[in-house]
Amino acid sequence: MQDCIFCKIAKHEIETEMVYENDLVVAFKDMNPAAQVHILIVPKEHVTNFYELASNSRKALIMGAVTDAVKAIADQFETSDGFRLIVNNGKDAGQTVFHLHFHLIGGEVLGAKLV
Ligand code: AMP
Ligand code: ZN
Repeated sequence: MQDCIFCKIAKHEIETEMVYENDLVVAFKDMNPAAQVHILIVPKEHVTNFYELASNSRKALIMGAVTDAVKAIADQFETSDGFRLIVNNGKDAGQTVFHLHFHLIGGEVLGAKLV
């Protein structure tokens, strides 16, 4: 989608610290980290939010790719003992970028920390 920052990142048109990529998703460091490890996992296809993803069975393939990404990133950053996966769905939940993304945070004791 034109003018979507995460579409541009997914197409490598904007530079980020990319940490993982597979056929359907990319993952990169959040520019404003909420924890020692804060990675965003983003589908390459533009999907506005999790609610939209759930409404389309073809897009549901993305969840398998997200699962692979989570495991690979947890291993890469040695957070497999404890990490949190967060989706802010919609503005009332704090979503600010309207291209679906999963926040993986960890690398420290998280307590009640959210993003
Ligand atoms: P959310 O509030 O759930 O929509 O999260 C959006 C996240 O994207 C925030 O944590 C931002 O810090 C992060 N973010 C926005 N633009 C960029 C960017 N260009 N590179 C890395 N992280 C970004
Ligand atoms: Zn997009």
